[in-house]
Order: sequence, then C-alpha cells, then structure tokens
Amino acid sequence: MSILLTTLNARYTHASLGLRYLLANMGELQEQTRLQEFVIGAKATEIVERILSYSPKIVGFGIYIWNVEETAKVVAMLKRVAPQVVVVLGGPEVSHETNEQEIVKLADYVITGWGDVTFPKLCGEILNGPKPLMKVHAGVQPPMAEIKLPYSLYSDDDIKNRTLYVEASRGCPFKCEFCLSALDKTAWPFALDTFLAEMESLYQRGARLFKFVDRTFNLNIKTSLKIMQFFLDKIEANPDDPIYAHFELVPDHLPDALKEGIAKFPPGALQFEIGIQSFNPEVQTLVSRKQDNQKAADNIRWLTKQSHAHMHVDLIAGLPGETVESFAEGFNKLWALEPHEIQLGILKRLRGTPIIRHTQEFGMVYDPYAPYTILANKDIDFPTMQRLVRFARYWDLVANSGRFGHTLPVLLGDAPFQRFMAFADWLYANTDATHRIALERLVAMVSRYLQTQGMAKDDAEALLASDYSGGAKPKPAETPAPKRQARRLAA
Ligand code: SF4
Repeated sequence: MSILLTTLNARYTHASLGLRYLLANMGELQEQTRLQEFVIGAKATEIVERILSYSPKIVGFGIYIWNVEETAKVVAMLKRVAPQVVVVLGGPEVSHETNEQEIVKLADYVITGWGDVTFPKLCGEILNGPKPLMKVHAGVQPPMAEIKLPYSLYSDDDIKNRTLYVEASRGCPFKCEFCLSALDKTAWPFALDTFLAEMESLYQRGARLFKFVDRTFNLNIKTSLKIMQFFLDKIEANPDDPIYAHFELVPDHLPDALKEGIAKFPPGALQFEIGIQSFNPEVQTLVSRKQDNQKAADNIRWLTKQSHAHMHVDLIAGLPGETVESFAEGFNKLWALEPHEIQLGILKRLRGTPIIRHTQEFGMVYDPYAPYTILANKDIDFPTMQRLVRFARYWDLVANSGRFGHTLPVLLGDAPFQRFMAFADWLYANTDATHRIALERLVAMVSRYLQTQGMAKDDAEALLASDYSGGAKPKPAETPAPKRQARRLAA
C-alpha cells in the first residue's frame, strides 16, 4: 500500500465524502490507495501510529476548519517520527492564504481547490518521478462528467451507521461575502441520471438517510423536482420503510411546482436547512447577499403551515453593520415565522472569503485561531459578542433541543430575543457554564429563573413537568446535520 487518504472528521457518524471522491478518482493508483478516517479528539500519537501501521509512502490529509489545529499536530509528529513519508494536504482550509499557514510549512505538498484530478497526478509524480518541483499545486477542475462518483465506496457499515453525504452539484452562483462558496461564482451539476442511478444503488443497499451538501438545492427547479420525485417514489412504494433527505435551500425561491412536491412528503422525511443570515437589508447589501426578505418570510411561513418539512433556519451574528438591536429585530421576525430550529451562528472569517474587505471600516476583530470567530466589531464590543455566543449555546440547549416545548413560549413572551438574552445572562451568572449543563440541572435552572420573573413555584414546576418528567422529549425530527461550514456557512 503506497498511499493513505485520511482526515479527522468532526464525529464518527460523519463519513468523509471528499476522501471517497479522491479514492474513486485514483485511476491506476487506486489499488495502492487506502482510506482511513479518524475523529477529532483522538490522541495524535495513536493517529500517527495507526497511519504508520499501513507503511504508506504518501499520506493525503483532508484539512477543514474543524480539524486544522489537531491535524497540524499529527503532521508535525508524523514528520518527526517518519520524515520519509510524503505529506500532501488538500481541502478548503488550505486552499486559500495557503503559504502563511503553520500546517503548510510542515507538509511536503499542498493541493488547493479541486483534488479529483490533481491528487492522483501528484501522487504518480511522487512515486514514479519526475519529482514535483512546486510545493503548492492549484487543483485542476475537470468537466463534471469526468469525475467518478464515489458512492459505491460507502461501505455497508457506513450505510448502516453513518450520515451519507451526497451532492447533485458543486458550487454556488451567489456571492455572500462570508461564505467560501461565494468564490465559485457558479454551480456545476453532475449528470442527473447518473447521480440518481447511484442513489438507487445506495437505496438498494439499505441507505435511508441522505444528506445533500449542494449549496443551493432549489437552484434548478427541474432538477430539484426530479430528485424529490426519486424519494417520493421510494416512500410511495414502501410507506413503512421511512426515508430521510436533507437539503439546503435559498429561502426566496420556492416556485409553486416545488411547493407541490414538498407538500407530498410525509412527516419525518424531509429536512431543510435555510439560510436567512440577516433580515437587515443594509447588512445584506454590505455582504453582497441578494435576498428578497418578503418572499423568504412568506416561503418559511408556507413551509411551516403547509408542509411537513423540518426546518432549520440560520442567522449569523457579527456581520458588518449588524447591531445587537437590528439582529434582535431579525431574530424576533424569524421566531414569529415558527421554524423548528433557529441556528444562531457567530460570524467566522473563513480563509479566502471576501468579507475581509470590511475589516477596517467596521473594526472587525477575529480570533486568529480556527475557526476564526469574530470577537468584536465597531457595533458589538467583546463582552457583548460573548453574550451572543452564550445566547447561541443556550438557545441550542433550551430551544433547538425541543425539550422545552411548553416552557419556551412562556420564557420568550412577546420579546423573544430580549427575554432569552436576559435568561442567558442570568443562567451564565448562576452556573458559570455554557457546556456540561446536565438536563436535570437545566430544568431546575429554568424553573428558578421563571420564579425570579414572578411565576409561582408550583406553576413553574408544573409547566416544566409538562415538558419533562424524568425523560427528555424527543426533538421534532432528528437532525443528522454535521457541523456546517465545511465550505460555507449555509445557503
Ligand atoms: S451563503 Fe449560501 S447562497 Fe450565499 S454564497 Fe454561500 S452557499 Fe451560496
């Protein structure tokens, strides 16, 4: 075995699509290539030991925002223990601002951008000569028809136990400046029939959970309809064998034909991740995000009322020009539309994204370490940004968890953002924790807080008992989504 493809996934359940693409496209080197995934948090010594157990000549690492720090330690250790092993890096995190990165200094070669063609070519040159002269290689983007699809490389174990990532297209035509996909400038579809044949094969092998990583599933409605029909046919043929599909949507583009298709899905079969990011038109203009807010709101309302789709809607705090007040207004507006989950993200300066042009004017201060989260800007100082970070964390625990279905509306009243912020401030002051709050303790804290707001102890406890009586209520639908931001924040 000459070549090992590896990465540190965020969780065991996330099977790396990128590595499987590389393996599928290795050509005559495929026989000598093996794939080995790890999970962040594993000991670097154990990872290095396992890598070396395969005696590879080349190790290709997939580098992402969530694993760059840990992978840098692994690469440093690997090069000390076995300097003869050639290390090749690839992935979105090393595709921009490449030369200034610590991990790049440790590696032998880097491929920026698409690796499907360039990685096997580089490996061939390393193994057979002539030795590549350049350290950084710009990945060649081949015609989509020349890329071999990787789905047969999902093992039976992957199909049974892990989230299967699939993509009917790459790229995005929009240009939101905080998002890496803004650099694509267009989207490139795979041949639909070939793609659906692969989905059929996965389905026949037992796959029932499909997570589409397409940036904007509803870009080409004809394609969206065909893909949805594929799943509807399966559901109709086997109503007792549930299937689950996850798509990312742009919110202001939902023509009637698509709505008709969506409305046919039964409960529990469809999940949409919808990016709103900001409802503030000035902020949208500043970050070049084109969004019809009225249409977006109407569509979210329609999805809530007329479909069974589970909706997970994203907002970003910390964008240039967004004050706490304008963010609060957007949050309250979104809450009134009743999506199942609001994912409150804090802005991150992803390497290569054009948002950097606002740094000076808006006093944008980012953490220099991955994931490069914003710490302060001219409208939101550091302590306030930290309050927003805690708001997001507690919102996940209390609202997105689905465990406080009856209590949450009481907690939020008629000013959801303001009241939840007050609760978050109180919770932090009284626990000094943002993680590791056990559910029972959280329930007790919510009850105490409601009492500080004037609710009688018996009433608060009865309210919470209606949500929680020794066992957690399940979420409205299980969310198989991984940490986003592999290449963007969300569509
Ligand atoms: S945020 Fe969504 S719509 Fe905007 S560029 Fe990124 S993927 Fe495209």
